[in-house]
Amino acid sequence: MKTGLLHGIVANSKTRVRCVFCGVYIPKANKCIEEHTNGMKHKENIDLMAENGMSYVNDELYCKPCNVYLTGEESVASHVEEDQHANWIAAIDDLIEGEFINIDSYLASENEDVFCEVCDAKVTCTLQNIEAHVNDILHRSNVAEKLKPLNGIFPVENDDEVWCKVCDQYIENTAQRILEHIDDDTLHVEWFMDIEDLTEGQEVSIQDYLKNEHEKNAFCNKCQMELLCNVQSITDHVNSEAHLNQFS
Ligand SMILES: [Zn+2]
Ligand SMILES: [Zn+2]
Ligand SMILES: [Zn+2]
Ligand SMILES: [Zn+2]
Ligand SMILES: [Zn+2]
Repeated sequence: MKTGLLHGIVANSKTRVRCVFCGVYIPKANKCIEEHTNGMKHKENIDLMAENGMSYVNDELYCKPCNVYLTGEESVASHVEEDQHANWIAAIDDLIEGEFINIDSYLASENEDVFCEVCDAKVTCTLQNIEAHVNDILHRSNVAEKLKPLNGIFPVENDDEVWCKVCDQYIENTAQRILEHIDDDTLHVEWFMDIEDLTEGQEVSIQDYLKNEHEKNAFCNKCQMELLCNVQSITDHVNSEAHLNQFS
């Protein structure tokens, strides 16, 4: 009989068992238990656990972010909707957005720490710690370094400035100014939004344009041809007969 560790089924009475994940009672018969553990709902709850830092420890559900064991009345689905838990997840998502911090393996209970990819460092997973880390000057400059080649930003001879190819503009060479440019400069942000809209699903790549200072072209993988990398030229291309009729 499939009971115990992986399946969240615990004995309840002579005639029924309880699925701790789903918070439901099931008749104590192999067939019923198997049907339940093979069911959609049950599998969804197992996925939900892995996305929420919950694990099954000694026949009990444990939530790592909240540091609590769930009571018999709760299920995975009911716990993730509780304020304390939902607020924590929302706050973490907010903090790590765009920061290259990977929290997936922490939530899947494979790791105790989160991992900062740009600093190549582990960070203890508390809101306070992560907030301190993302605001740390070293982290900010590592994020800036990571974003430069994705944003067409290049060093110039005098080290005091960098050059944004997209905007043809010089920027003070500090993490703060560079990140401000990437996140808040209207011209820069709109160019990327326009290009993303235009190229979405079109197999037009601008990676080489952004990475290589002297590259002027984007590349259409569908037509196997280069085209000038600007909004007008890409607009014309993705709407052209040749492109539209090309088999990919
Ligand atoms: Zn279940
Ligand atoms: Zn929780
Ligand atoms: Zn970092
Ligand atoms: Zn720019
Ligand atoms: Zn094309």
